[in-house]
Amino acid sequence: MSKADVIIIGGGVIGCAAAYYLQKNGVQVLVLEKDEIGAGSSSRNGGGVRQSARNIRELPLAMYAVRNMWPVLGEELGVDIEYCQQGNLRLGKTVEHERILQQLVAQGQATGLDMVMLTAAQVREICPHIAEEVTTASFCPTDGHANPLISTLAFYKKAREMGTEFITGEQVQALTLRRGKIAGVLTARGKYEASTVIVAAALNSRAIINSIGVDIPLQSSLIECLVTDAQPPMFPYMIGTAPANFYGHQTSHGSFVFGGSSGLEPYGPNVEQPISQPLTPPAICRAVLGYFPILGRARVVRTWSGFLDKTPDLLPVISKVTDISGLILACGFSGHGFGIAPIVGKLLSELVEEKTLTLPLDAFSFGRFKPFM
Ligand SMILES: Cc1cc2nc3c(=O)[nH]c(=O)nc-3n(C[C@H](O)[C@H](O)[C@H](O)COP(=O)(O)OP(=O)(O)OC[C@H]3O[C@@H](n4cnc5c(N)ncnc54)[C@H](O)[C@@H]3O)c2cc1C
Repeated sequence: MSKADVIIIGGGVIGCAAAYYLQKNGVQVLVLEKDEIGAGSSSRNGGGVRQSARNIRELPLAMYAVRNMWPVLGEELGVDIEYCQQGNLRLGKTVEHERILQQLVAQGQATGLDMVMLTAAQVREICPHIAEEVTTASFCPTDGHANPLISTLAFYKKAREMGTEFITGEQVQALTLRRGKIAGVLTARGKYEASTVIVAAALNSRAIINSIGVDIPLQSSLIECLVTDAQPPMFPYMIGTAPANFYGHQTSHGSFVFGGSSGLEPYGPNVEQPISQPLTPPAICRAVLGYFPILGRARVVRTWSGFLDKTPDLLPVISKVTDISGLILACGFSGHGFGIAPIVGKLLSELVEEKTLTLPLDAFSFGRFKPFM
């Protein structure tokens, strides 16, 4: 197929979710992916489906996805996506930590999120394996986690079953215009036509839209995850800490997945490959053991890194480009795009089909960066 109603550039969770919601409505979609489906951040992330501690402007998206989409997503897509909605427990040890957590709880409650503070005794009751020094925590019972690669592939599989074509190993080099409107894309192997193109290529979105003189300020930074061998069941929560020095969860088969950074990872446009850094896994392990000394004998079986596509305000761009008819951007998720992917996919389909939006997208407009450019 060299023609489609809509071309999506990028087969990550955002591109695959958008393909699914569009194709479900009968829109013919072609997804072009330079590597394999899910090869970017979508297979590398920590799986957090979190509303708590989100930017207040992004919170409505997360709350909508958690209330209306994640609990039924596996059934809808016909795949067990390992969604576990048992809450997010954010731990603290000091007075300063307690102040940070209280602020997060107050901010969450003010926007209608079910968050509470827990005393040391209450934390121990629901999570007995924590270090003695833990004195406080916040808890958001409706947060959770899911398997990121399986969720991405579930969107892919369902969209494909409904008729979306996915071409992998196909790197988009440029967008094409006809009389100022989007006409399609160019790859090394040829050209594809569509009057609407969604650019969901994470960091590479910038180079792709630069091909027609459009720009957004996206910067890369590297973060990592690690996975341990299987341990006896300890807790079902997504875990975080007040100083945000690590986060993680125990998977259904017993392994723990933890994520974080040392702060010394290489940064910026010269970093081309997401390669695991020597200092990062030890930094994550030290942070974890400070809260869960019981994991001292767990073995790390694999580590990996991934890029964040950061915008200056750490909010995504989910937006039409008003000057160029047919161009839609979906990038800059700044490290928290997995949890909101289902609603972002649905909103992208509504943007394409010019339907009433389920939620406003003003906070994520392309135009907000004009002062930076
Ligand atoms: C280590 C790590 C941990 C994270 N933890 C969490 C978490 O717990 N919770 C959460 O919500 N989020 C988390 N995130 C963020 C989350 O993974 C991303 O926000 C989300 O996956 C973004 O999806 P995407 O589809 O935009 O990007 P990607 O998954 O990166 O997909 C973009 C795709 O575009 C393709 N592409 C690029 N250039 C081209 C081109 N020229 N032509 C064709 N295809 C192209 C890439 O190959 C890639 O497959 C984490 C990220 C990392 C790296």
